[in-house]
Parts: sequence; structure tokens; C-alpha cells
Amino acid sequence: MRKYDAVVIGAGNGGLVAAIRLLQGGAKTLLVEKHNLPGGFATSFRRGRFEFEASLHELNDFGTADNAGDVRELFDQLGVTDKIDWMQIPEAYRVISRAEKIDATMPFGVKDFIDAMEKYVPGSRPSMLKFFDLAEEVRLAQAYSSSVNGKTDSKIMVGKYGNFVRAGSYSVNEVLKALKMPKKAKDILNAYWCYLGAHCDDLSFVHYASMVNRYIRRGASMPKMRSHEISLALVERIRELGGDVLFNTEATGLLTDKNDGGIAGVILDGKEQIETRHVVANCAPHLVFGKMMDKVPEVEIRATNARKFAGRGFTMFLGLDADADELGISNHNYFLYDTMDTAAQYDAMRTIKNNNVQATVCLNRAYPECSPKGTCMMYFTTLYMTDDWGNVSAEDYFKAKEYVANKMIDRFEQDMGAELRRHIEEISVATPMTYARYCGHPEGVIYGYESQYWDGLMPRLQMMAEDHKIRGLRFAGGYAMRLSGYSSAYFSGDISGRQTVGDIKREG
Ligand SMILES: Cc1cc2nc3c(=O)[nH]c(=O)nc-3n(C[C@H](O)[C@H](O)[C@H](O)COP(=O)(O)OP(=O)(O)OC[C@H]3O[C@@H](n4cnc5c(N)ncnc54)[C@H](O)[C@@H]3O)c2cc1C
Repeated sequence: MRKYDAVVIGAGNGGLVAAIRLLQGGAKTLLVEKHNLPGGFATSFRRGRFEFEASLHELNDFGTADNAGDVRELFDQLGVTDKIDWMQIPEAYRVISRAEKIDATMPFGVKDFIDAMEKYVPGSRPSMLKFFDLAEEVRLAQAYSSSVNGKTDSKIMVGKYGNFVRAGSYSVNEVLKALKMPKKAKDILNAYWCYLGAHCDDLSFVHYASMVNRYIRRGASMPKMRSHEISLALVERIRELGGDVLFNTEATGLLTDKNDGGIAGVILDGKEQIETRHVVANCAPHLVFGKMMDKVPEVEIRATNARKFAGRGFTMFLGLDADADELGISNHNYFLYDTMDTAAQYDAMRTIKNNNVQATVCLNRAYPECSPKGTCMMYFTTLYMTDDWGNVSAEDYFKAKEYVANKMIDRFEQDMGAELRRHIEEISVATPMTYARYCGHPEGVIYGYESQYWDGLMPRLQMMAEDHKIRGLRFAGGYAMRLSGYSSAYFSGDISGRQTVGDIKREG
């Protein structure tokens, strides 16, 4: 039997970072990935003359060399920042709800963002200033919490982060109401909600504020050669540090210790057994507990069943034979909503029929050379809040794909006055079935578990120690303590990798 200090299952964002942290901590590490390439969702693919980004709209909290965000600092420590050719996203977003007469283009930078909001919503400045002060306190409190593994000292929390503690158990809308934010400003500020996939009556304020703050304060970035460039850089680093990486290799089972029920090994492709006492799983706990282990403690089964899946993904990718100027596409990042009432919008997103939401990107607005001269590339993403795609029969599958793709094109053309259909040179569509097959996530979930009131970012960070029930098994990625998104998946890989190094050292 081959023997490793630790095995990482899955080379998605969380798994790649966990593997580097393990190696930096001196652990002999094996990373296994069932695909023939790394990244999970963080990848790209080609159709004709176009290389499409598979997922990343914008990476938050990276910043620039002189205004570094937490992700850049993490990447510096991992030794990968300089392996990647970065570019900045030009503006935060344009949010449109024609029905509610909202059309706002919001810039990055706290001052510019507040100034723009004041222009759209006169009188909003005081509440916006309060919002960003509180959001920064949230970020600092979270950094402190992570640094002590969730075991925070209540005196420090109350003394240094009192407003964070005060806001900690309220939803986005409850806190914005307490800040006396005018309704229209709240609507515009809440536009990012679909990035977390939970509506603002339910979504924890500290989770949302943490994300918005990181986007607006630091701006957003993107590697020129798509997110795949990051994934390749991370794999290169793993190899430089002496780690073993096996592609085309699926972890099909976990071996457990007869005495303590903890990890004893990993089964690869149903055949080879690897001896290890430590696993970082970059896949769904549903998969690990449901398919890979014979005996699972009841408490894990209960916790896993109680958690709720976040949105199931659908994306349409278009390669267009005209450039963005010619098509009248002036922004990089669009959110198109039917209503700015996020709870009502979330409800409509339960079914294929009623969901008309789209988060749409024209990459050429950030990187004009990303496609051949005289062309541009767009990708349109939406989420489904139930498993409605599971109700589509095999016979109706292509019809359903076409129905949603057509709706997306119609919606963008109507809202923006741009003519896309007759310029389509390449089209590709990914449904929840595609995502389920590609990364192995149940129901085609692309955001891990939903950030809920009782199971959001803060409870999870604070319960990290209690959430760790099986010796030697930790999680990284969208289902782990930082929940979904690129930055969050990198951070959970960082935390779980370092925690595992601690576990190994304690064992001696
Ligand atoms: C269309 C789309 C748009 C998005 N836009 C953004 C955005 O703009 N900003 C943002 O921050 N986030 C965005 N996200 C979310 C982001 O991509 C994810 O949160 C993040 O990539 C998840 O990373 P992860 O670590 O959970 O790994 P995943 O990407 O889920 O990868 C898991 C990996 O594990 C492998 N694996 C699973 N089971 C096994 C096994 N048994 N054995 C071996 N390997 C296995 C899979 O093959 C996969 O490679 C988007 C996602 C999608 C799909």
C-alpha cells in the first residue's frame, strides 16, 4: 500500500489550496482528481475561435499590489501570485429591473460607489457610509475569528468588534433597515445577492456585507487566460513542493479505523488502497457520507441532511461575430432581475418556467483581446432554487435547454436593446445535469450549501471545531465553513489544509 500523510480528494479551488498548505506544512501529500484537468469549475473550454471562461465572473478580494486583498495575500503565501497574468474588472456591476425602473451602473471603490449611489438615490450617503464602516468591521472580526480557529474570546469580540456582534444574528434587510437605508439604495446595494444564492430576508448580514465590502473596497480581478490559468498555477506549485497529483483518478471509498472510526485510507477507482490518516475532501459531504463510507456517525448524517443545497447552475456561452461596441454592450457585468424584492425573485427562481434572472458577463469589456478582433464573448448564468431540472424527462431535455437559452437571449436583447441572435457564431449551454456530471455535485449544485440563517458563514466559522466529528476528515470548497465562491473556496482550502497540518503534528 502506498502511504501518505494526507490525501486531498478533488482538484477544485479548495482542494488545490489545501494541497499546497499541506505540503508547506511538511506533509507528504497526494491530490487525486477524477478529471483529466484541474480546477473543477475553475476552468475554460474552447468552441471554434473562442476560449470560454467556464465560471468566473470576477474574483473578489484580490486587489492590486498596493491595495492587496486577502486572496492576494493568500496567493503570495502560497507562492502563485506571480505565476498568473492578472487584469482588473472595470466596474462593479450594472443592475437592471425594467419593471421597477432600476438601471444603475456601480463603480468599484468605496467613495466612488457611495457617490454613484447618492446620484441615483439622493440622501443615501449617511446610511451607505455606515454600511461600509460596519462591513469593514465584519471583515476584521472574521479575520480574527479565522486566526483563532473560531474559538473567539468574547471580551475581544465585544471590545473590538461590538457592532459586528450587534449585527451578527440579523439578516441583510434587517440591518439595512436599522441603518435607515432608503429602499432604492437597498435594492441597488443588494444586487450581488445572486452571487450567494440566498435572498436578503434570509441571508445573514455579515456574510453579505463581507462579500460586498471585499468587492467594492478592493475591486475585482480575473486572470487573462481565464480561471484555468489559476488552476494550472496551483498545480504547478503543488508539484514544485514535491506533491503527487493523479488526474483521471476517482476516490471511490474511504477506509476507516476499527478503533476510533477515523480515517485509515482512501480507495482509488474501486481498486488501489492508499494508506493515510488524513483526508481533505473537496467534494460534497452528501457524496462522502452517502457513497464513500460504510459507517457514518449519526450526528454527521443529521447535520448533512439538515443543510440545504444552494442554487443549481445553468449557463449559456455565446461567441458573437461582432464586437461589443457594435452590439451596444457597454458593461462587463450585468444583473437582470424581474423584481428587486430578493425573496420574491428567489421564489420565481424555483422553476424553469418562472426563472428569468441572469448574471451576464461580456469578458471583452475587461480584456478586449480575449477573443479575435471583430468578435466578443458573453456568458449568461442563472440559478435554480429547487431541483426542477430533475423533473425534466430525457425526451424533453433538449427542448428545455433551448427554451431557457432563448429566454436568456430575449431578455438581454429586450433589456439592453442589443441584437445578439443573428450574431451567434458559437453557442454552448451547461445545465444542472452538466454541472452534476462535471464536478459530481448533487442536483447540479454550483454553490455548495446555501447560506442560511442558522447555517451561514459566522455560525460555521464559530462551530468549526464542533463540526469536525470524524478524526482525519476535513472539507474544503463550497460545502465547507466559508461556503461558496472562488475566494471562499480558496480560504476554506487554506483553513482545512492548515488545520490538517496541525492534526498531523499533534499526532507526532
Ligand atoms: C457558471 C458559474 C459561475 C460562477 N461564477 C462565480 C464568480 O463569478 N465568482 C465566484 O467567486 N464564484 C463563482 N462561481 C462559484 C465557484 O466556481 C465555486 O464556488 C468554486 O469554484 C467551488 O470550488 P470548490 O473548491 O468547491 O471545487 P469544485 O469546483 O466544486 O471542484 C471539485 C473538484 O473535485 C473533483 N471531485 C469530486 N469528487 C471527486 C472524487 N470522488 N474523486 C476525485 N475527484 C473528485 C471534481 O471533479 C472537481 O474537480 C461560479 C460557478 C459557476 C458554475
